[in-house]
Amino acid sequence: MKYVSTRGQAPELTFEQAMLTGLARDGGLYVPETFPTLSTDQIASFAGKPYEDVAFEVMKPFVGDTFTDTEFKEIIKRAYAGFSHAAKCPVVQLSENHFLLELFHGPTLAFKDVAMQLIGQMFEVALKRRGDRVTIVGATSGDTGSAAMEAFKGLDAVDLFIMYPHGRVSEVQRRQMTTPTESNVHALAVDGDFDTCQALLKDMFNDFDFRDEVKLAGVNSINWARVLAQVVYYFTSAVSIGAPARTVSFTVPTGNFGDIFAGYVAKRMGLPIDRLIIATNQNDILHRTMESGDHTKTGVTPSVSPSMDIQVSSNFERLVFDLYDQEGAAVAQLFDALKEDGTFTLSQGAIGKLRDEFDSGRCSEDETSATIKKYVETTHEVLCPHSAVGVKVADENIKDAPMITLATAHPAKFPAAVKDACGVHPDLPAHMADLFERDERVTRVAGDLAAVEAVIRKGIK
Ligand SMILES: *Cc1c(COP(=O)(O)O)cnc(C)c1O
Repeated sequence: MKYVSTRGQAPELTFEQAMLTGLARDGGLYVPETFPTLSTDQIASFAGKPYEDVAFEVMKPFVGDTFTDTEFKEIIKRAYAGFSHAAKCPVVQLSENHFLLELFHGPTLAFKDVAMQLIGQMFEVALKRRGDRVTIVGATSGDTGSAAMEAFKGLDAVDLFIMYPHGRVSEVQRRQMTTPTESNVHALAVDGDFDTCQALLKDMFNDFDFRDEVKLAGVNSINWARVLAQVVYYFTSAVSIGAPARTVSFTVPTGNFGDIFAGYVAKRMGLPIDRLIIATNQNDILHRTMESGDHTKTGVTPSVSPSMDIQVSSNFERLVFDLYDQEGAAVAQLFDALKEDGTFTLSQGAIGKLRDEFDSGRCSEDETSATIKKYVETTHEVLCPHSAVGVKVADENIKDAPMITLATAHPAKFPAAVKDACGVHPDLPAHMADLFERDERVTRVAGDLAAVEAVIRKGIK
């Protein structure tokens, strides 16, 4: 399997190279040249299989010969050993035709663990084999950072630096990033919002001298391996409620478009998905794009679902690449315009294709709280604010096909918002009960490329 850049100018890479690189040198994102398909029989055979076995079958065609089968099975086993639920990603029923896919049973209580635990193990095996060492820099709106720290802390071949927007993550999220004691992981509190952090990361990747000097690698959702790991639970959840004999729909609380793009990949691979529904909070650039084709950045307004407070939705570029028939030059033109002018407009053809696959909805702050309250009262399910955004939009979009909404985080990551909404204080699980007593270690840094690069140079062992 070859990987190509969405902007058409960077060299083709293998899975291993794409995974270790992150962003392509032409500013694009790596995507597989083609999507392998699974037969209906193979999908049907997933019923009742352990999560790890399905993960192996779904991901194997993309990974090629980067790992032997035995190596890859061991990687998957180690990745999910720390999950606290036997199903890893269990499905619960909310109402007759509405199901919740709980993605928060990993070590840091958000769906980011599903991919990050896996790529931590994949990086380690690949780097050890190469005798290499890399510097991973990540930008986070809250959950990616802690998931990365948990996955990479203590590894020999990696230094990890996580930039988060100072003052804009929940206290639990911040403490999960500032309390690990391993010396190879570093939290950087950046002055700015998430988009500032993400722009700094992109600029760092485009500073080729720095990139080569520190052997920069990325694990943000722009890393193809992250998206790939998330494809798996679309299969396990759909099969658990009757696919492939039944067609299902999914609603996904969306920020950077990584999680829902994984659903699109599952569909391209043959999983019978009817609709993919993009759920946004008040930072609704994707919902507006669906309505008018107009992809225009506005300022980010902080919300109770901070992991979705995003206006630059990086993985959307991967979809745009398909909407424009894999023409890198067209994609480059659009995303250059976005960077320069903060806006682009999709062609009529592209809008049509987008609407063929996706629907969208937006959930206000009041609606988020009301949804948390309603579901505690009617089902005893305590939703995190992000999951509530999804559930609300899903309820508005349920048609004939059963709906699966992705529950992206545990409510205990956002205790204040949940308590305000429904009066219930969600407790942290036992392994994190002393989080508020642990010492914090963090470097405050200006939202400026040279300043951040200086901190990273100094922090590398
Ligand atoms: C990251 C995150 C999202 C958004 O996922 P994307 O892949 O960026 O669209 C939603 N909810 C939670 C809790 C998250 O951590």
